[in-house]
Amino acid sequence: MIYLDNAATTKPFDGVIRRMAHFYTEAYFNPSALYAPAFDTAKELEESRSYLLSALGGWGNLYFTSCATESNSWVFRCGIKNKRGNIVVSAGEHASVYENAQALISAGIDVRFVSLNADSTVNQDDFAQKVDADTTLVSVIHCSNETGAINDIKTLATLAKSKNGKLLFHADGVQAFGKMTVDCRDAGIDLYSISAHKIGGPKGVGALWVREGLHLSPFLIGGGQEKGLRSGTENVAGIAGFAEAFRLFSQIDKQKIAKLKNILKEALCALPYVSVNGSDTGSPFVLSVAVQGVKAEILQRKLAECGILVGLGSACASRLKKNRVLSAMGKNKEQIEGSVRLSFGAENVNTDGVAVGQQIADCIKSLHIQRR
Ligand code: PLP
Repeated sequence: MIYLDNAATTKPFDGVIRRMAHFYTEAYFNPSALYAPAFDTAKELEESRSYLLSALGGWGNLYFTSCATESNSWVFRCGIKNKRGNIVVSAGEHASVYENAQALISAGIDVRFVSLNADSTVNQDDFAQKVDADTTLVSVIHCSNETGAINDIKTLATLAKSKNGKLLFHADGVQAFGKMTVDCRDAGIDLYSISAHKIGGPKGVGALWVREGLHLSPFLIGGGQEKGLRSGTENVAGIAGFAEAFRLFSQIDKQKIAKLKNILKEALCALPYVSVNGSDTGSPFVLSVAVQGVKAEILQRKLAECGILVGLGSACASRLKKNRVLSAMGKNKEQIEGSVRLSFGAENVNTDGVAVGQQIADCIKSLHIQRR
């Protein structure tokens, strides 16, 4: 089987599973307990935190959550102090940001969506118009889960803060973290969401980076874990697995992934009815293509029969008929209906791009012929 749906989730590294097993078989103590073995568990938890924090630039605070959806929801539920002012969100956000923005609209808040360029990056002119002195929160996806397009969060944060130095700038870094260098302080942002299962870590573990000096109200209250900001016994095994996943993912040869993406892109775009959604400057880990005249679900099924698993854009949106992000990029109905997403992970470092590209191209060709 060739698994090319790593933007949906990744296979955990063996080393991650081994690391996690330690916390189920030996160091299973509650890290808040006041006896010596639990101190060791708490120490390992803090080591994981420091390690992941250093991966984000080593400044500020990192709070663990149950997933990036929780991290994003926390920002939207607790990052807004009152109903005054407006919120600016890009049209290219993942559902976990977009739906929170929709909920704020229902609560009567002025939410402004920034349009996308044809490659699905945020349109900076529109951004500059939508953000103003009354903006309290801005949220921009760092790397698109749909197309791999990368937003220049440093430039956008600088621009936003020039309009209102007090606004909060949040970036959803789920598809960027571990795949590109991230320095939250240097980027001038306030909040950054990450998730373990996109880089060979376990599902159900996320974190929210919060800049030094920023006080965010808690989303979950209770036992006062995570400095009182996120109650609930910490998922120590998952957190240690997250840190180990980052360590192992950092070691993969990213140039080989970039090469694989290029080979697949060239093989597929050699067909006159296939085009890339996005641009060449995006993440090497995502390749989204539109196949004109073919329904993506049918292509996905056909590829699965051949042992190749691909995605249909965001895994969360694959059950929905309409692809919001592709549509915001200006893709037409036929292109949207024929779009598949190939996304890569550590397991693909040695994938034979030429052979897989040929297989996918053959599947596409056969469906095209059947249709005529
Ligand atoms: N943000 C982006 C860009 C994503 O791709 C995803 C997952 O698909 C999420 C947020 C949600 O992450 P989680 O599954 O940890 O809730």
